[in-house]
Amino acid sequence: MSVLTIDGVWKNFHGHHVLRGVDLEVHSHEVVCLIGASGSGKSTLLRCVNLLETVDDGVITLEGREITDPRVDVDDVRKRIGTVFQAYNLFPHMSVLDNVTLAPRQVHGASREQAEQQAHDLLARFGLADRARAYPDQLSGGQQQRVAIIRALATQPRLMLLDEVTSALDPVLVREVLGVIRELKETGMTMILTTHEMSFCRDIADTVCFLDDGVLLEKGPPEKIFTDPEHRRTREFLHTVL
Ligand code: ADP
Ligand code: MG
Repeated sequence: MSVLTIDGVWKNFHGHHVLRGVDLEVHSHEVVCLIGASGSGKSTLLRCVNLLETVDDGVITLEGREITDPRVDVDDVRKRIGTVFQAYNLFPHMSVLDNVTLAPRQVHGASREQAEQQAHDLLARFGLADRARAYPDQLSGGQQQRVAIIRALATQPRLMLLDEVTSALDPVLVREVLGVIRELKETGMTMILTTHEMSFCRDIADTVCFLDDGVLLEKGPPEKIFTDPEHRRTREFLHTVL
C-alpha cells in the first residue's frame, strides 16, 4: 500500500526551478533515502510534503488523500507526518518530558497521564529514561536529536521525514542517532530521509533516490544505485562523496 505519492511536483523560488516534475511513491514500511548535491532540492521536497512549502504544480497524496489541495486542513496533515530537521529544535525552556508530551496533549487531545506514560515508554525504548526531567541544554547533541526524533514519534505519525538529522553532530554522536533510525526501521516506520552518510544510506534504505538539480534522475535499491548507476550524473555525484 502506498503511504505517499508525489506526482509531477514543481517548485520554483524567484523563477529558479528547484523541483522539476518530481514523481515518487513511498510504500508502507519503506525507507526512502534522498541523495544529491547540496542545493539539489532534497529539503524543499520534504518541505513540500509536510506543507511548509506550497507546490507550483503537481499533486501529493498522503494515504490516498490529496494534501496539495488548497482546502486541506494543514494541521491535520502535519499530525500524520513526523518531521525532524538538522538543527534539533527542542523547546529550550521545557523539560524533555514536556517537549515530548506537548503535541500529543495539544494537537491530539491526549490527557497528561496518557501522554506522559507514552513519553516514558518512548524515552525508555531509546535509552533516555533517566533524562525525562532534564532540559535540552543539559543533553549532548546526540541526545537532543534523539529527543527530537522521540518527540516526532509521540504523535504516532504514519510517515517520518528526517532531513540531515546527523549533520550537526560529532562523528561519535552520529552513531547513536543512526542507531535510533535503524531501530525505527525495525518497527516498520515509513520514512523519507536525507543524509550525507552514504554508508548509512546504503545500509538502511530500501530505495535510494538521486536528485540532480531538482530532477529525480534515478531511483532504485541501494545495491544498484551505489554499484551500477544508470546515469553519468549519479556516478559523478557518488564519486565526489564516496
Ligand atoms: P538541498 O536540501 O538538496 O541542499 P534545498 O532544497 O535546500 O536543497 O535547496 C534547493 C534550492 O532552492 C537551493 O538553490 C536553495 O538556495 C533554494 N531555496 C530553498 N529554499 C528557498 C527559499 N525559501 N527561498 C529561496 N530559495 C530557496
Ligand atoms: Mg537540505
